[in-house]
Amino acid sequence: MSRADIATVTGLSPAAVTFVVSDLLDEQFLLEGNTTKGGNGRRPIPLTINYAGHLAIGIKMNVDHLECILTDLSIKPISSVVVEFANTSPEAVLDAAVIAVGRLQKVAEAHHRFIGIGFTMAGTIDVKSGICVRSHRFNWKNVSFAKMLEEKVKVPVWLEDDTIAFAMAHHLFGVGRQHKTFGALAIGEGIGCAIVIEGGVHHGINGEAGKIGHIIHDLNGELCECGRHGCLQTYFSAPSLVERWRKQRQLTNVDRFAMKEAALAGDDIAIQILQEAGHQIGKHLASFIIVTDPEVIIVGGESVTFGDFLFAPLRASLEIYCLSKPPIVIPDERDDFWSSGAAVLATQQLFNFELLFSEDQAQS
Ligand SMILES: [Zn+2]
Repeated sequence: MSRADIATVTGLSPAAVTFVVSDLLDEQFLLEGNTTKGGNGRRPIPLTINYAGHLAIGIKMNVDHLECILTDLSIKPISSVVVEFANTSPEAVLDAAVIAVGRLQKVAEAHHRFIGIGFTMAGTIDVKSGICVRSHRFNWKNVSFAKMLEEKVKVPVWLEDDTIAFAMAHHLFGVGRQHKTFGALAIGEGIGCAIVIEGGVHHGINGEAGKIGHIIHDLNGELCECGRHGCLQTYFSAPSLVERWRKQRQLTNVDRFAMKEAALAGDDIAIQILQEAGHQIGKHLASFIIVTDPEVIIVGGESVTFGDFLFAPLRASLEIYCLSKPPIVIPDERDDFWSSGAAVLATQQLFNFELLFSEDQAQS
């Protein structure tokens, strides 16, 4: 858009637009494009967002390592590192995060400006205060992790549940560009389905909306990380599926890739386990779909590896259990929206005008 177009759209005076644009150019938030000569002489200079002008860091916490990425404002990856930690105590994870941030900051050039760091993990997060209220997987309770990391690295830090950050990345730069209401289903170490409704992520009162992996599948089932018995994810998380196959085949040292290979080679036990998982996850997902009525379901997490061995029965199950035609299920095979999703926590602070506006209102 040119300055004149912006004045027309916003209703601001051309002088005011010129003033604001000049500030945004100085701060490297905007770029001037090239003008082309038209029939009536010089055309107005187009302005675009300068995505490369600022950088963000995204960190995703896994069971024994941090996956860390340096991105520009459009979450385009610039560099990445993996840093392992000895145990999941907040202190050990903090040390690993400080190392990761130091390494990624070295990659950035002097003229780059950092807007902040997004850190994601599986858990119940109080987003406003940056506190991990509870993470069963990592055994954290009321940890002010955003503040702890901020004090060490002197850059703003935002904390979020990893599946919600995955959904936010898709909301801004993935499927969300075409679909305003969708579910972001993760089938990995756990199972969860973050909800984006009319272009906004829905956290719920406790930050627990969409944690469908803790829907109880069988009250007499195995102990879940949440302390209850028989949750969906104790049966059908990626590690649970691999473990069941390993036991039945009496194998050692196998992973999900080996299980996929076996299924491809016709291993009937592997195929049957994945079929049952697809059917049962689909059955519970159908309840979620009836409640939220999404346009699409995007799926991420380790289980995407299983491809149609898992997704064909899952789609078939949705056909049985959904009220009307089920939404399209799209497996996200790129797997890079997890760490870059963490970076979105930082970049979206700049673009979340709705939030900025409501804060202005609250202050006045
Ligand atoms: Zn549970």
